[in-house]
Amino acid sequence: MNVPLLDLKPQLAPMREELVDAITSTLDSTGYILGPTVEKFEKEVAAYCSTSFGVGVSSGTDALLVSLMSLNIGPGDKVVTTPYTFFATMGVILRVGAEPVFVDVEPDSLNIDAEQLAEIIDKDCKGERKIKAIIPVHLYGQCADMGKIMALSDKYSIPVIEDAAQAIGAEYPFRNEDGKVTWCKAGSMGIAGCFSFFPSKNLGCIGDGGLVTTSDEPFAAILRSNRNHGAEPKYFHSRIGGNFRLAAIQAAVLSVKLRYLDTWHKGRVKNAGIYRELFQAAGLIDNPVRLPATVYADMQDAEEHNHHIYNQFVIHVPERDKLREYLNKQSIGCEVYYPLCLHQQECVEQLAIFNQSFPVAEEAARTTLALPVFPELTPEQLEYVVQKIRDFYTH
Ligand SMILES: *Cc1c(COP(=O)(O)O)cnc(C)c1O
Repeated sequence: MNVPLLDLKPQLAPMREELVDAITSTLDSTGYILGPTVEKFEKEVAAYCSTSFGVGVSSGTDALLVSLMSLNIGPGDKVVTTPYTFFATMGVILRVGAEPVFVDVEPDSLNIDAEQLAEIIDKDCKGERKIKAIIPVHLYGQCADMGKIMALSDKYSIPVIEDAAQAIGAEYPFRNEDGKVTWCKAGSMGIAGCFSFFPSKNLGCIGDGGLVTTSDEPFAAILRSNRNHGAEPKYFHSRIGGNFRLAAIQAAVLSVKLRYLDTWHKGRVKNAGIYRELFQAAGLIDNPVRLPATVYADMQDAEEHNHHIYNQFVIHVPERDKLREYLNKQSIGCEVYYPLCLHQQECVEQLAIFNQSFPVAEEAARTTLALPVFPELTPEQLEYVVQKIRDFYTH
């Protein structure tokens, strides 16, 4: 049996005609950059994410970059984030000339540890106040602890840019003062929510694409200006900005696909549930296999909300690299997100952060393995994956 990590082909069939129509009408419109197709999609995503505005951009990376630029973050500033994320989260901080500051992750969710974040921010705010933004990442499709993070943001007026590249539609349970819970969409809590439509994300386009959500009208205007060289009006530049524009053809495709997104989320959640049962039945849970933590599953009304959208289903295992090789030999796709933490990357060798110690993130880099979880997988395929993992540990 063959179980790819991700196969986009089966999702194509049911919407192929709609996609072809959308692509054809964009082709015939001869309006290929921004324009009404992009504006329509921006409104749809903003509504989906419960924000006032959406600003379509060229990629998830550029969503982060243009957000930092629009907050005027640059040389002399520091930005706090996690060392256990895709490279882009740190790359954009360095590209605007600012300095990344890392906070280790929680052992269960692998999201930024809000308690340690509070210590770093408290300390900075008693001194030079160099920290100008916080970028929590909603890793694998589960939100960071935004209640604590937004409380810090409010206390010290430090803006939060959510890296929601893996988490479109994921929800965070805010606990209100009266003890009730309000579920908030990823990207609706910070001043900016950054999304990627790279094909492997839950909502992917047919190339590169991204979007920034915000409910701050002046900020939305700055984002729009900066994604197009800061031109306002055309050929007059009060800002520098860049070319971060979204192509109309991508927006046309995304408008079609957005209508299927909640169904796909359900399929991923269902597959994650099947994995949990299979691992349980195989007697593998906790030893040797640690399943992905669902840190909000016990919150009020969690079953009705996307507390995890499983962009990745990531287990922790001993002998990770050997298991990975073994599974690949059995035609099972799996991948390591991520094998090297950001503070250990060669490109930051000259910086103070290089080789600082973040033990939880480093442990994760040694033990995590993402298994296939895309919606169209069959129960037989999931069974095969778990069976092969059991074979590996019992032989
Ligand atoms: C995918 C991703 C990005 C970058 O998105 P691109 O569209 O590939 O530029 C940024 N951050 C995280 C956490 C991601 O997973």
